[in-house]
Parts: sequence; structure tokens; C-alpha cells
Amino acid sequence: MRRFLLLLLILVVALGGLWWQRAPLGEALYGRMAESRAGRNALAGYGDGLTLIFCGTGSPVPDPNRAEACLAVKAGDTLLLIDGGDGGVRKLAGLGVALDGLDGVLLTHLHSDHIEGLAPALLLRWAGGAATNPLLLIGPPGTSDVAAGYNLMLKADATYRTAHHGEAIVPTGGGQFAGRDLGPGVVWNAGGLVITAFAVNHAPVAPAYGYRISYKGRTVVVSGDTAATPAIAQAARGADVLVHEALQPRLVAAITRGLANANQPRTAQITRDILTYHATPEQAATVAAQAGVQMLMLTHIVPQVPNRFFEAAFLGDAPARFSGPIRMARDGSVLHLPAGSTAIAEDTL
Ligand SMILES: [Zn+2]
Ligand SMILES: [Zn+2]
Repeated sequence: MRRFLLLLLILVVALGGLWWQRAPLGEALYGRMAESRAGRNALAGYGDGLTLIFCGTGSPVPDPNRAEACLAVKAGDTLLLIDGGDGGVRKLAGLGVALDGLDGVLLTHLHSDHIEGLAPALLLRWAGGAATNPLLLIGPPGTSDVAAGYNLMLKADATYRTAHHGEAIVPTGGGQFAGRDLGPGVVWNAGGLVITAFAVNHAPVAPAYGYRISYKGRTVVVSGDTAATPAIAQAARGADVLVHEALQPRLVAAITRGLANANQPRTAQITRDILTYHATPEQAATVAAQAGVQMLMLTHIVPQVPNRFFEAAFLGDAPARFSGPIRMARDGSVLHLPAGSTAIAEDTL
């Protein structure tokens, strides 16, 4: 008993000392962490191949665990973003993915949850890489308007940054977008990376694109936002991975009932409307089976799924429809497809 009390006393004194010295201890610890983490690139360890980093796997439905739509694609020396919804690019940078070498941004369509978080991509590339040219923003008709809108919003900011840090660090001309409206077809062909846009069905949003991305024999197809459509299975034929959006109507129906009970009929109606232009996990699984892909990665998860326990309820009958692995992407999920291989490595940043 006496020994126990003595040990307890020592513990209390030690903890008290640590708390009392928390300022110098905190500074020393912070210094060690910052020195090892600042400037690191989380992608440095991956070899040549096609790498997908899921930076936003949510939707306009607020979800503390998921940023809005954002996917980074690394292929050789090329780094691209597909969509940049709220919080996605910030999350990507926070995960340690350097954006100074960002080569462009591709938009699937112009819904706000795919475009409203792009300002950090401009700034991080510009300030991080001393970019002197504008950042390419490619997408369906209307994309150049999005670019012009960002450029107008950030017009003053662009001059402040250069005035403060100087031309050598943050040069004039790098803090702006160059928008390009493109139709379906090849939208990127450089450094062995070929990206083809194809029309999907997100009516009344039109055109809305999916993208087929190929690099050194590896292929990924990204559905964008879409209802179930044969266009995806056609575009994904023979691909390694299908990244497909997913909305589970049975879980959304519970939210609809809750909103109706809470006397919020207008919001309840929105939760009914969204069913018409998204695909269910089961439909995505059917498409994956038709296309013959190796793996199905679900993203743009609607509604919120609080934790892994609820994933089975979200997936429903999807596993019965596709024999390959079905994953629900989380912010920070990584798929790496090495060049000259059929392997798919899964990782989390
Ligand atoms: Zn969306
Ligand atoms: Zn959409």
C-alpha cells in the first residue's frame, strides 16, 4: 500500500512537472516535428505508375469526415486534379502532397461541390513553385467562366502576394487560371498520360463528363457525377479500376423521413430530387462487372456514413453483383497502379 502511494506520488509529481514545463517542451517537440515534416512529399515513395489520391470523397451534404469532390492523379512527372470541391485541395496539401508541380485541373462538371475549393490549388502551385504561367482549368463548356470568376475574385490577392514576397518568389502571372472549354474526346496527351472525356448522364447538368485515364498500360475510369448509364461500362472496358460515384437511396430515404418529420418539406424534396441523377452502389457494381474491371472504388458518398460499421448497409447488394473488391474511398485513400504490372496497391495517407 505504501509503495503504491509512493509510486502514485512520483507519477503525480512527474506529470505536474511536464505540465508546468509545457511551453519549452512543446516548442522543442514542435520543432522536431516541423523540421521532419515541412517540405516533405507524401508521394515520393511511390514508383512509376498511375497513382490516385482521394482528397475529397463527399458531396454537398455536409460531412465532417469527407471534403467535397477532389481526386489527385499522379502519372510520371504529371500531377493533375480532377475536380476541387470545398476542402479537397486543402486536405490534399495537409496530407503532404506537394502542389508546386500541379500541371492542371480537370472538371467533370460545374456543380458547386466540384469547383468551389480551387483557390488553394492556385496559391499552393504559384507560391510553392514560383509559377509564372496560369494554371490550366479544363472542362465542359462554362469552365472558362469558372476560371474568369476565380481570376476576378483573386485579382487583388494576386498583386498583394507579389508585392509582399517579390517577383522571384511569387512572380506575376502565376496566380491565375487559364480556362479551356472542351468537348468529349482526348483532353490531355503528354508524358505518356492520355485522358479522354466522355459524356455521362447527370441531367439537367449537361454536359457532364467522366474521364478515362491511361498511363503506361494502366487505366482508371472516373465516372464523375452520373445516374447509371451504359456510357461508363463502355468507357471502362478493360480498365484496371472504376472510380464510381454512389448514393444509397435506402439510407437517403431515412433522411427524407427525418426532414419531413421535422417539418422541412423543401429540404426533404431536395433529398428526393437527388435520386434521379446519381447512381446506387448496386448499379455501380453492375457497371463494374459489365466493364470487367479489377476493382470498384466508390466515392462521392451520399449520404454520410459515420464509420465502417455502416458500410455494409451503404453497399447493400453491390457485393453480389461484382466479384472483385469494392472499396468505399475515404479522404486520404490512395491507389497505386505500378507501370508494367497488374497490381493495385492500396494505401492511406
Ligand atoms: Zn457532386
Ligand atoms: Zn453533380
